[in-house]
Amino acid sequence: MTNLQTMNIQELKENITGEVLLSNDAAYPDARKIWNAMIDRHPALIVRCATTADVVRTVNFARENGLLLAVRGGGHNIAGNAICDDGVVIDLSRMKAANVDPDARRVIIEGGATLADLDAATQIHGLATPLGINSTTGVAGLTLGGGFGWLSRKYGMTVDNLESAEVVTARGEVVRASATEHPDLFWALRGGGGNFGVVTRFEFRLHPVGPDVLSGLIVYPISQAKSVLRQYREFVAKAPDELSVWIVMRQAPPLPFLPEEIHGKEILALALLYAGSPEQGVPLIKPLHQFGNPVGMHVGVQPYVAWQRAFDPLLTFGARNYWKSHNFSTLDDRLFDVVINYVEKLPSPQCEIFFGALGGATARPAPHATAYAHRDALFVMNFHGRWEDPADDSRCIGWARDFFNASAPFASGGVYVNFLTADETDRVRAAYGSNHDRLSLVKRTYDPENLFRMNQNIRPA
Ligand SMILES: Cc1cc2nc3c(=O)[nH]c(=O)nc-3n(C[C@H](O)[C@H](O)[C@H](O)COP(=O)(O)OP(=O)(O)OC[C@H]3O[C@@H](n4cnc5c(N)ncnc54)[C@H](O)[C@@H]3O)c2cc1C
Repeated sequence: MTNLQTMNIQELKENITGEVLLSNDAAYPDARKIWNAMIDRHPALIVRCATTADVVRTVNFARENGLLLAVRGGGHNIAGNAICDDGVVIDLSRMKAANVDPDARRVIIEGGATLADLDAATQIHGLATPLGINSTTGVAGLTLGGGFGWLSRKYGMTVDNLESAEVVTARGEVVRASATEHPDLFWALRGGGGNFGVVTRFEFRLHPVGPDVLSGLIVYPISQAKSVLRQYREFVAKAPDELSVWIVMRQAPPLPFLPEEIHGKEILALALLYAGSPEQGVPLIKPLHQFGNPVGMHVGVQPYVAWQRAFDPLLTFGARNYWKSHNFSTLDDRLFDVVINYVEKLPSPQCEIFFGALGGATARPAPHATAYAHRDALFVMNFHGRWEDPADDSRCIGWARDFFNASAPFASGGVYVNFLTADETDRVRAAYGSNHDRLSLVKRTYDPENLFRMNQNIRPA
């Protein structure tokens, strides 16, 4: 703090359109909280930027004063890189404006927007771009790591739909990155995380989606899981790109369509979305409820934005979280045994296991086409260790780590950068895969001093 007082915080405040928060400001305690309550950090300054010019001033301020700099988009990242101790946080939560051109099927959206903000702006026109499955996630962090969700098999990773970006570099310059302007930077932004600058605007291509889509859940008891998983594997191998079916395994929440006696019991849910006309989707999904005897089913035609929010109640801000993740190119029967074993010993009612199914359009680009390298990842398994009481930390973290080790022999070795926890620095190279060294060269051009290092860090070559 003493150091900072000697620096001209007053001058920064006078030049910022947004707001500069210090630890004694009333808004500071909430502003330093992020999605994962395990992260408890105290920045010296939080700058709630309102404009690109605010971002430029704050980047310059941090660089000139030798301060650690963190950038907060949606504040969702499990590793907690959106916030730092002692340094400066660029908080983009005020910068959410979206501008849709429905004829050109493009949207330009600011760097602090959430998935809900983006979907709300585009769905008015019956358009969408592939995003993740929890609407409070930030567009920025999700996109910069690759981004996938219900529309990805049909329309690719989020980065495959990025047309251009406005970036504030470490030198405080504002540049536009696209296929023709700073193409090296544009390549790196599409999977290289927040290493290269602060993205203040994203331009995405849009596709006709809904606004009503066939989607929902088919729920099986855990006793049928092995057979369901085997049939699921065969089914998704032949599914059309329009159809995405993911697996969620957890203790059943008290959802009204599930019988009361199943609440709190271990279940396997097939979560699905058909990104085409619902009439065409209905016969295609029929086998999914014939894999066994479902205990509940809630599938129908509903607004796309409603399905995009369907998992929000289970993934709210403020719980303690420790996640582990593997990529898979195939699903081995022995993996199913491991998974079922660990579902049977879930350490808290909020813990869950997700299999996101990729393939389709996500697998077609070459691994070097964008910085996102894992085009071979047909499934991303994520163990959500999630609980409320700090007394449960070691039990829940232990469960996730043991599960991770037990399932590792069946995984591809790659991992999605956006699912790494803070203690997985040894997996950062695996997360960037075969693109790591090229990313490191781009880093040298745009951030030679590694100002942007609160991320899954790529060191300048
Ligand atoms: C509940 C939940 C569900 C999820 N589901 C999915 C899913 O379905 N699909 C998927 O692909 N991912 C998913 N994720 C992972 C998600 O993509 C990452 O957590 C992502 O990093 C979140 O972005 P954010 O902007 O909210 O995060 P933040 O924590 O704000 O930022 C994450 C990283 O990006 C950097 N960053 C943020 N904004 C900018 C910016 N404007 N410019 C430069 N750098 C920036 C930060 O410095 C930090 O290093 C999920 C995460 C959670 C917690």
